[in-house]
Amino acid sequence: MKAQANPLLEISNLHIRFHTLDGVVQAVDGIDFEVYPGETLGLVGESGCGKSVTALSILQLLQCPPAEIQGQIFFEGQNLLELNREGIRKIRGNEISMIFQEPMTSLNPVLKIGEQIAEAGRLHKGMNRQQAWRWAVEMLRMVQIPGPGSRSRLYPHKFSGGMRQRAMIAMALSCNPRLILADEPTTALDVTIQAQIMTLMQRLKQEFKSAIVLITHDLGVIAEMASRVVVMYAGKVVEEAPVIALFKDPRHPYTRGLLGSIPVIGRKEQTGRLLQEISGIVPSPANMPLGCRFHPRCSQAMDKCHQEEPPMTRLAEHRRVSCWLEG
Ligand code: SF4
Repeated sequence: MKAQANPLLEISNLHIRFHTLDGVVQAVDGIDFEVYPGETLGLVGESGCGKSVTALSILQLLQCPPAEIQGQIFFEGQNLLELNREGIRKIRGNEISMIFQEPMTSLNPVLKIGEQIAEAGRLHKGMNRQQAWRWAVEMLRMVQIPGPGSRSRLYPHKFSGGMRQRAMIAMALSCNPRLILADEPTTALDVTIQAQIMTLMQRLKQEFKSAIVLITHDLGVIAEMASRVVVMYAGKVVEEAPVIALFKDPRHPYTRGLLGSIPVIGRKEQTGRLLQEISGIVPSPANMPLGCRFHPRCSQAMDKCHQEEPPMTRLAEHRRVSCWLEG
């Protein structure tokens, strides 16, 4: 792991609440983690655990329903939560960019692909129209879009799902960001295209030396890409570990459950069961259980787990877990 002394991104005691018609929903409840220059950090958990909301809050992209954000998000020493609209606009897409699961979320359907990338060149790099267009074609070539010159003049709906995702990666990388937030970047694609996109992202990450926060529920993708992993459950961080340590020796019952639900060839012969699922469902953020939030689903829950939240126990550098079995 390439962890360095100074984090590029440092999230501390982050709380995110939504004020809805049905009351206050606590989506993220006091999380901390850091991202170091050039590394890929995996942010893992089931849908609704708060990982996407965390990423959106970094770029102040949470709008509706009204969100209340508390805590600190330091990027290169600057608290992003204190920036005004103009300040965050300069960072968005320039220093930090985002790749979404569905490219149409960030591609404008009525603008040609080339124009959308060229706009970033004009806005953030001070290029004139011609320079920006040439550069947009170069970016499309870099993400291996065949015939980038002619394809740059097409609208997004003329691209296949895989090509749209490549175009969005080109847009995200176009200003050589220090940090990329990739939210389920391959979930909507079929397996072959997924593998191509992952390989592309790995190659470009090395070329551009950007750090990546890779948000996914897919531990196979994490094993391929991440050097360190933060596991979230019901708005909290429950475990953090270097990727090899996490796969070899998961310490939180939830992490063990996630790993047990990955298909492994030969597991049935070893255990008599093909997959071990986590029973029950993720609690609603509007109605969190008392004590450890995982206790209704945990086969190792003790009396204490029903009453008191477990503390975060630090086991080693970049190795921590929140569970009474370790506390
Ligand atoms: Fe299970 Fe208790 Fe640990 Fe929570 S604190 S994960 S309920 S053993």
